[in-house]
Amino acid sequence: MSFFANVELVPGDPILGLTEAYNADTRATRVNLGVGIYYDEDGRIPVLGAVQQVERQLAEASKPRGYLPIDGMPDYTRATRDLLFGADSALVAEGRAATTQTIGGSGALRVGAELLKKTLPSARIAISDPSWENHRAVFGAVGFEVVDYTYFDAAAHGLDFDGMLADLRRLEAGTVVLLHACCHNPTGADLTPAQWERVIALLHERNLFPFIDMAYQGFDQGIAEDALAIRLLAASPIRNFVVASSYSKSFSLYGERVGALTVVSDTADESKRVQSQIKRLVRANYSSPSTHGAALVAGVLNDPGLRAQWEDELGRMRTRIHALRAGLVERLAAHGAPQYDFIQRQAGMFSYSGLSRAQVERLREEFGIYAVGTGRICVAALSAKNLDYVAQAVAAVS
Ligand code: PLP
Repeated sequence: MSFFANVELVPGDPILGLTEAYNADTRATRVNLGVGIYYDEDGRIPVLGAVQQVERQLAEASKPRGYLPIDGMPDYTRATRDLLFGADSALVAEGRAATTQTIGGSGALRVGAELLKKTLPSARIAISDPSWENHRAVFGAVGFEVVDYTYFDAAAHGLDFDGMLADLRRLEAGTVVLLHACCHNPTGADLTPAQWERVIALLHERNLFPFIDMAYQGFDQGIAEDALAIRLLAASPIRNFVVASSYSKSFSLYGERVGALTVVSDTADESKRVQSQIKRLVRANYSSPSTHGAALVAGVLNDPGLRAQWEDELGRMRTRIHALRAGLVERLAAHGAPQYDFIQRQAGMFSYSGLSRAQVERLREEFGIYAVGTGRICVAALSAKNLDYVAQAVAAVS
């Protein structure tokens, strides 16, 4: 008799299933727009030059591989705080921000969720409708009741800001509100600076708890610009908030699992107590984070020359995404589909294209173009080579 005899099979992840189907497709023209990864013009995940340099230094030094502290490499967490809040942040100087190195942005969400479940046991969490699918799973897994707030206006292909404010206003005081700092996944619809100010004023007024997820810092406007929500929160009267951040995209280090959880407390003393709780959660989970990815990021961020090189490389990825958006819109119009001009107004790697499930199906069957059933496409998986082909196919099914 097996102890596992009655274990049920969980259906596979639909996005990973899409990649499997794409890999099995033998058409030379196949394109996978279902991914959440930035590819370069040659269809490869870039290895940034600044990262390569640190990699060479690390190989040369061949350092012993001891354990890191439970909350991670100090050079990494310090540099992360500076990227989030800016180097001259008063809040950081006051000792109110505690940063923990985590297993990617996903790990930051998980540890952050566990901390909040422990400290605010009866709170709910509100996530945008739609949101990155894993948000619901992560917060649900630690026992949170997950509710949605209105976010996207499908007809206008943009943010439904009035709907969002109305829903946030209805939330019970103490509710945790998950907000995407920039490059909203999956819609590509972001808040303007003025809209951020209004949301933050509302969070304060209604006593809601902000949980910021920033997985794409530098992919829309720039490092400081994309962190605006965090900087505005830091300058607001709100005393507590959480940030889950990730270097997966901004350093093109997906598999190295480099992320961070930053918790802002009211005082330095409170921050120490909160951090002690986080260390206990990490210790009982994976004990301590891994060295290599953090050493790469810290090596780049703490060397002025490499840091400048990274900012330049990140800027090139950002500029290329903007150019791909503009190119796609231009090619779509040339193929008789001018209605997609909104793609240029959306931000980051993704676009909610407005394509229906049936249109997505046709793209796959007739053209070998793979997109998520919701119509989400990864703009960063396009290139000069396939842009016209994709535009022609989208126009044909529209
Ligand atoms: N948050 C959002 C909105 C994301 O899109 C992603 C990755 O796709 C993550 C978090 C997780 O990042 P990581 O791959 O570093 O775990």
